[in-house]
Parts: sequence; structure tokens; C-alpha cells
Amino acid sequence: GSNVKTTTTALLVEILRAAGRTTAVGGNIGHPASDHALQGGWDALVWELSSFQLEGCTTLRPRVGVLLNLSPDHLDRHPTLAAYLAAKTRLFARQTADDVAVAGGDDPALADLAVPSRLERFSLVDSSAAAHLAEDTLVLDGAALLPRAELPLLGDHNVANALAAALAASRMGADRESIARALRTFKGLPHRHRVVATVAGVRFVDDSKGTNIGATAAGLAGYPAGTIHLILGGLGKGQDFAELRPAVAGRVARAYLIGEAADQIAGALAGVVAIERCGTLDEAVARAAAQAKHGDTVLLSPACASFDQFRDYGHRGDEFARL
Ligand code: ADP
Repeated sequence: GSNVKTTTTALLVEILRAAGRTTAVGGNIGHPASDHALQGGWDALVWELSSFQLEGCTTLRPRVGVLLNLSPDHLDRHPTLAAYLAAKTRLFARQTADDVAVAGGDDPALADLAVPSRLERFSLVDSSAAAHLAEDTLVLDGAALLPRAELPLLGDHNVANALAAALAASRMGADRESIARALRTFKGLPHRHRVVATVAGVRFVDDSKGTNIGATAAGLAGYPAGTIHLILGGLGKGQDFAELRPAVAGRVARAYLIGEAADQIAGALAGVVAIERCGTLDEAVARAAAQAKHGDTVLLSPACASFDQFRDYGHRGDEFARL
């Protein structure tokens, strides 16, 4: 997917290990996939794959392939959104009827997906999906898996992520009990909606990995309306920031803009939210801290890459925590 690949990969590995499988992880994170092929020693293999990697892949055939979501990203590389989706769906190209394709059921961009394998969906709203949310319960294959309240990860977007990982893991042979156990203990990864400080009743949350519109928008829905002081900006990647308007309207109290994309974002969000031009992260944190009231959240979820001012998203998140 455009978002939440690393988190879902990590969660899937936790589940498979809980189910007693010797699981290797790599691809876009950790070890190169070729290392696994050479070294062996695993009985389950989980690879995170980016569109950049899939674009050039001609022989890959995953037994279970997962396409999480699609959001405008990397349009500085892929000429159109359709070309970007085509790169992602190369994941399924060599699958057969014996294999499984797991796909997001709530993402309009994935609605017409055609695959050569068995297509199974996860959804927050569609009770016909193999993995879905019914009232406050995560359901897998028609039976309750786990009450939502037992997931340590917050927000609807994380329920969707848990459903995706649960579905994929079950199709790789994990038993339901191990799936539920791992979902209860997985606390997420650094730089993805992690509270890094609470000062005078104001929470400071690092989502530096929110590097595109889809990630930032999904995360905003997890906070009470009007309580978010949002730090946005950095290096743009050809995205249209106007797509952030519905997610920001009424929910974000104030936006603090940094980096190269600040002009573009200010233009795109004019009229939906109060905007402060800050230039640097130091200035943005200082101004947001001064404005935020008890109970509010100062959220770094920039919807942009970091390379104009930082080494990478980790560096940006660490600087935010330090400030
Ligand atoms: P990737 O490896 O695809 O970049 P990460 O796991 O690093 O994915 O997460 C990237 C961003 O996606 C984070 O900002 C995270 O909060 C956000 N995110 C988490 N769940 C979702 C979701 N269901 N839809 C969109 N964005 C999400």
C-alpha cells in the first residue's frame, strides 16, 4: 500500500511468530529478499515491497499478497495515479488460483481490482468482507476474533491495519488464538503516532512517518475534533494538498507550516483552518506549544518528505521529540 506497509509487516511477523512459525522479514525493511533466498532457515517469509521495487519485479509469486491502500504519493516518479497502482498490482501478476490476494475493501482506488488469485477483503464497514469490524468486534471468517477495546493501537485506521494483518496471517496458516494474542500485545512502531511528551496537559505526538496525504488524513480521524495543532510541510512529492481539506476542516485547530511545500499547503488549505507560517520545526513547535491548551495535541504529521531540512523521517521525528 501507499501507507502502513512497515507497521502491517511488523504486525504480521508478530502474529506468525506467536503462531510458532520461524519467520524471516525483509525486502524494503531489514534484510534484502535475496539474503533470505540464499540463507534459508525460515518457514515463513514476510516481505515489505514498495512500488519502486515491484515495478521491476518479473518473477515474484507470493502465496499471500497484501495490497493495503492507495493514496497519491511518489507522483514525482510515477507519471499518473493509474501507473502507480499498476506498479503496486504487479505483486499479484504471477499468482495463481491457489494463492490469495488480500486487499483494502474501503479504498475506492482498489474497488475494481482484478487478480488471478482468490481476492479477499478487509473492511471497517462491509460485513461481507472476510475480515471486518462489526459493532465493536473484529470479525474473521464469520466469527468474533477480538473486541476492539483490546487493541492497544488507537484509531479506526489501526483497526483496519489489524484486520489486514489478521486476514493475511490466517491465510498463511496462523491459528485464531495466536492472531488474537499478537493483536493484543502489538504497540506499533516509532514515528507513527507515538506520544513523545506531555507538557502541561498537552500531548506531543510524533507521526513523522506521515509523509503523504493519505497517512496524515487517516491519523487525524483518531483525535477529538478541534484539539489538534498540526505541524505540516517539508518536501512535496507532486501531491495536491487540497485533498487534505476534508480531513482538516473542523478537526485541526491550527496548522503550523514548515519547509519547502509551505506555500503550496497554505494555498490549498486557505479558508479551512487557521495557518501560521513557521519555516522551521523549532519555530513550529514553539508556536504550537504556546497556542495549545490543556487536553490538546501537538501533532507532527507533515504529509511531506523530510529531505529539505532533515536526513530522513526518523531524524525529523527525533528532533521533534527533543524540541
Ligand atoms: P509505510 O511503510 O507504507 O510507509 P508505515 O507503517 O511506516 O507505512 O506508516 C506510514 C504512515 O501511515 C504513518 O503515518 C501511519 O500513521 C499511517 N497510517 C497508519 N494506518 C493507516 C491506514 N490504515 N491508512 C492510511 N495511513 C495509515
